[in-house]
Formats: sequence, C-alpha cells, structure tokens
Amino acid sequence: MHTKNGEGIATDAQKIDRVFEELQKLYPEARPELHFSNAYEVLVATILSAQCTDKRVNLVTSRLFPKYPDAYAMAKLEPEELEPEIRECGLYHNKAKNIVAACRAIVSEHGGVVPSTREELMKLPGVGQKTAGVVLLAAFGDDQIPVDTHVFRVSRRIGLADATTAEGVEKQLRDILPRETWSHAHHLLIWHGRRMCHARGPECGRCPLRGELCQYGE
Ligand code: SF4
Repeated sequence: MHTKNGEGIATDAQKIDRVFEELQKLYPEARPELHFSNAYEVLVATILSAQCTDKRVNLVTSRLFPKYPDAYAMAKLEPEELEPEIRECGLYHNKAKNIVAACRAIVSEHGGVVPSTREELMKLPGVGQKTAGVVLLAAFGDDQIPVDTHVFRVSRRIGLADATTAEGVEKQLRDILPRETWSHAHHLLIWHGRRMCHARGPECGRCPLRGELCQYGE
C-alpha cells in the first residue's frame, strides 16, 4: 500500500504498508461477519447490528429473512409487529421503526429494489454514512471504507487517522489508502478491533503492531 497524502497522521507509506501486512498476517481470513445474500438483507442486518454483535444479528436474521424475504414483505409490517422479532438485538423500538420505514420507502420510491447510490441510500430512514457504505461495499461491491466503532478506534490508536468524527476518519483513511484497498482495510481494522484492540483493555502485549507501528500501548 502507498499513501496518497495526509497531514497530522501517518503519512509514511512504508509504515502504512507494514501495518496492513501485519494485520493481514494476523487475520488472513478477514471478511464480513454478517450473513446476507442480497442488498435488502445487508441493509436490514446492518441496521440491526448497531450496538449488537454480528453473531446475535445472524441468529435473529436466520429467523427473520425466511419470514420476510424482501422489502415488500417487510413494508407490510407495523413496527410494533417487528419489535418482538428483533428484540434480542437491542434498541429494537428504533430499529423496527427504521427498518419498516426504509422498506416502505424502497417499495414506494424504488420499486422494491434497494438503491445503489450513496445519495439515495442516505435518504432512506435510519440509513447514515456508515450503513450506506456497508451496503455499497457488501451488496454492490463498491470500494468503500465505512467507519464503525472499531475502525474509528483502531485507526486513531495506530495513528492512521486523528479526526474526531466517523466522517472525518473515513475521509482521512480514503486519503491515505489506495482506493482498491479500502474494503479489505475496513475488514482488517474491524477484525483487529473485535479480536485484540478492544475498546476496553486492548491486548497490546500480544499485538504485533505494538512499538514502532503503534505507540498507544507503550
Ligand atoms: S498495540 Fe494495542 S492499541 Fe495498538 S493496535 Fe495493537 S492492541 Fe491496538
């Protein structure tokens, strides 16, 4: 990997290359952990995943998707009917409201097909920058680097970014990483955040980035 530019953050192309080489060695199998088979499922699963583990989302969607296999089926529900089905994911009141409203908009404005542009996706209820990025990446194969809580934390600790908002970190990562690496870098940073660079108690003692590549734990 080579940097394109960057200020106040890691601009050393060799360092950035080595960070991602080490992460690749640690997580050669890094990939999305949510289960889905089309854009509708990516959208619903991503909304459900806020403050919830992918494992739990997968459990819930394994029951949900056979019952409501597309936006048409989901749009017919009232949010109150969906709530008990997704309760285990937490924040179920808002999530049910957003999923039903998004599916109704997909039916009424897009003929039941999840839109494939960021602009249209972000007009859907409950769909922000990160969810739109995940849908574009996972469902449409776009080069994207959505910033969730893990990407945000790990990038800042390593010094790949120093912005204080998810949007700012996303812009900085886009600036320093070549476009074709964005999607995989996104997965590697998430895997590291989930498995070692935890929000509380990062396991710096066993992290190969500790020291020259990451001074956070020094
Ligand atoms: S050294 Fe610690 S803070 Fe830095 S990436 Fe590794 S686990 Fe995270």
